[in-house]
Amino acid sequence: MTSDQPGREWKLVIHGGAGVIERGRMTPELERNLRAGLEAALEAGAAILGGGGSAVDAVEAAARTLENDVQFNAGRGAVLTFDGETELDAAIMEGSRRDAGAVAGVSNTRNPISLARAVMEKSPHVFLGSRGADRFAEEQGLEQAPPGYFDIPERRRQLEELKANDSDWFDVDMKFGTIGAVALDSSGHVAAATSTGGITGKRWGRIGDSPLIGAGTWADDRSCAVSATGSGEYFIRAAVAHEIAARIRFLGESAQAAADAVMADVKELGGNGGVIVVSAGGETVYSFNSEGMYRGTASPSGRSVAIYGDE
Ligand code: ASP
Repeated sequence: MTSDQPGREWKLVIHGGAGVIERGRMTPELERNLRAGLEAALEAGAAILGGGGSAVDAVEAAARTLENDVQFNAGRGAVLTFDGETELDAAIMEGSRRDAGAVAGVSNTRNPISLARAVMEKSPHVFLGSRGADRFAEEQGLEQAPPGYFDIPERRRQLEELKANDSDWFDVDMKFGTIGAVALDSSGHVAAATSTGGITGKRWGRIGDSPLIGAGTWADDRSCAVSATGSGEYFIRAAVAHEIAARIRFLGESAQAAADAVMADVKELGGNGGVIVVSAGGETVYSFNSEGMYRGTASPSGRSVAIYGDE
């Protein structure tokens, strides 16, 4: 029931993860670099939307930019599993037909978001896992990561710190910068993308909310597009992304009210993190119950990025 409505004002919202993000822990240089990383992702997506391109192209481009930036927990900068390996999760969804693609536990593919898109467009499936997903990436000619590509010293240090503090469990606060993007294009279509390395020290093939359609990622032109970040187990149990869309669609709530209500539910369960939302009507939203969230927004009227909760 969607129709093209040319001439709508496009919108883009991105996140680079939520969590314990406080001024006292940040150096000016780190803060500058993080803001520049967010701005680069906004630029990549805005260039597409500003040229009349599609929301799905824009969220993929913004997500790839963040995946290629070692500062964020996705693609190259992904956190490490308990065994010191990289297992990447990603999902993409577009709102006109609710086409979706997702991958989990990928280890060799340079840009998991583009692999998720290939699953959506080039396979009859929605969700592929681990070795099979990597094999599909190779078959599709997607760029493979050269040896050592994911070996980032800061991620090794974080894993060692986790093991030193708490050797037999992961720490939900040790997640740094899952990434996501949502967009509304000038034809009135929405799309969402989310990509992550998951949680430092994850084990047993653990998969979070990010690649689960309806939990960490959702897009439907009848309501909104959502990308989530936070303690994934809780976001799965609250079906966060779909729940926000359902509240907008069936209760007629604003995107902000729907997102705030669902994040309150996540908090009630014991989870923390946040979401970005763009509604089909053009409302853009951040909602998070953590100290901060790396985030940014762009439209023809301007751009902004923010990190701390009080910005
Ligand atoms: N939600 C992600 C996961 O649980 C982590 C994060 O967003 O930081 O895998």
